Amino acid sequence: MTDISTSDATGRRNPVAAPGPRTAADAVTPQLVARLVRGVVAGEQPTKGVSRSPFTGEVLAEIPESTPEDVATAFARARAAQRAWAERSFAERAGVLLRFHDRILADQADLLDLIQAETGKTRAHAFEEVSVTAIEARHYARMGAKYLRPRRRVGVLPTLTQVTEVRHAKGVIGQISPWNYPLALFAGDAVPAFMAGNAVVTKPDTQTALTALRTRELIIEAGLPAELWQIVVGDGPVVGPEVVDRADYVSFTGSTRTGRDVAQRAAARLVGASMELGGKNAMLVLADADLDKAAEGAVRACFSSAGQLCVSIERLYVAREVADAFLERFAARTSALRLGNTLGWGADMGSLVSQRQLDTVTAHVEEAVCNGARVLAGGRARPDVGPLFYEPTILDGVDAASAVCTQETFGPVVSVYRFDSEDEAVAQANSTPYGLNSSVWSRSAAHGRRIAQRLHSGTVNVNEGYAAAYGSVAAPMGGMGDSGVGRRHGSEGILKYTEPQNIAVQRLVPMAPSFGMDDQGYAALLTRALGAMRTLRLK
Ligand code: NAD
Repeated sequence: MTDISTSDATGRRNPVAAPGPRTAADAVTPQLVARLVRGVVAGEQPTKGVSRSPFTGEVLAEIPESTPEDVATAFARARAAQRAWAERSFAERAGVLLRFHDRILADQADLLDLIQAETGKTRAHAFEEVSVTAIEARHYARMGAKYLRPRRRVGVLPTLTQVTEVRHAKGVIGQISPWNYPLALFAGDAVPAFMAGNAVVTKPDTQTALTALRTRELIIEAGLPAELWQIVVGDGPVVGPEVVDRADYVSFTGSTRTGRDVAQRAAARLVGASMELGGKNAMLVLADADLDKAAEGAVRACFSSAGQLCVSIERLYVAREVADAFLERFAARTSALRLGNTLGWGADMGSLVSQRQLDTVTAHVEEAVCNGARVLAGGRARPDVGPLFYEPTILDGVDAASAVCTQETFGPVVSVYRFDSEDEAVAQANSTPYGLNSSVWSRSAAHGRRIAQRLHSGTVNVNEGYAAAYGSVAAPMGGMGDSGVGRRHGSEGILKYTEPQNIAVQRLVPMAPSFGMDDQGYAALLTRALGAMRTLRLK
């Protein structure tokens, strides 16, 4: 590890990790790109977008772009393949998911290279994507049949009315995903859609299309019919609406601003949509927290994937009596994080993904500092490490008018606020329109749980930043308020991809007067029957 020790205003500067064995260009060879881009549905002479290495700014790949006609072709192919797939047994579909699980674990080196090359994140953060995708594949393979199988329900006239709830695949899911978790968001949301018998047409972000294309290859090798998963690429505002306009259900992950447009477009067609959107996530360090563990956890929660993680923490509320002791620990750990700009293990934080991200982060920090914030760690771009690197940054004394206080930065920047009472901390944590993820630190799990239930947030992690809830895929995960609609994971993460159907068989007597009874007599009989059902505690 090389330590660049020039000091800044805070007296510290993040060191640079020893270079890994390879660069992004070593991993993304022209041969690999030529093979992978064949997976994009595009014409003979397509226009091309580019994916650049965030580590160096060099062009990694030119990616063919899909026209509206290509999107129509993708949907037609997916629709044709879906019918046969929906006929396959749960066991056959589960088998594909389990083999996919094995493939992504076995071929992880390959995937980790691509994720690092396209996103600029560290290998450890890329591995989070591999592991959560494997967990999701295993979960829906093992639980899919249970979630989806026909269920008997109590009929209007018990035993005389036999009701079965049946789940049908929606058809073709239109999936639009961002660049920040290109494997986990791309595959993780498609896996339950496939288990439920759907086809999927995905528009990944051009910047991370290669990871998506490689992932598709792996699941096809695991037995998914190739036509069942179509990939279209191109400008979001051009290709995205084409996907929304043809989908039987829309699975969108991205910013709240784009999500509103996509939701309106889906609503106009009367198709359902799940919206996984932005956040301004809060962490509460209560007075009874273990401060070393909380500081360690805060580093992971704020700076994983350089803060370009939807569930990452950007607001930190600390009990006043422990604030100085906590901040000393947190700032020391943050300043020691090693920045990494090559492929391989060993670095603690990578690059931002694009100039747009760097501009937002820079603007948020500069404005906060202009308004009087103090920089406890970081606070600067690091062009000496790579064109898009920014140090992990802690701001104290942020003015409420600063954008960093309320708007999503989506970068390695956290603002610290002190609180005098837990009521105040809860009110502050709940003070934005978002509600994606929160974190609470206390030595008492029961205390942590009580505070958690008061937070307006789809997931709350107690004594962890985000990974406990994110990785626990048996329970739903998603956003309240401006952070989204619908959930991924658990039963909701798969049932959203189905149409429920109620099949009711009436036996022996009709749902009408019979045996010479008139309407009045029938009403009197039903009145007695309803009273009896209540007495018998029928549901
Ligand atoms: P974005 O909204 O700009 O883009 C997301 C996707 O939508 C991209 O594929 C983009 O090409 C496409 N798109 C853009 N305009 C479109 C349009 N008009 N119609 C249809 N599609 C369109 O978001 P981003 O900057 O790529 O991603 C970062 C954002 O995503 C952050 O706000 C982050 O919090 C959020 N995010 C949320 C989750 C979650 O699970 N809640 C997960 C990851 C990221």
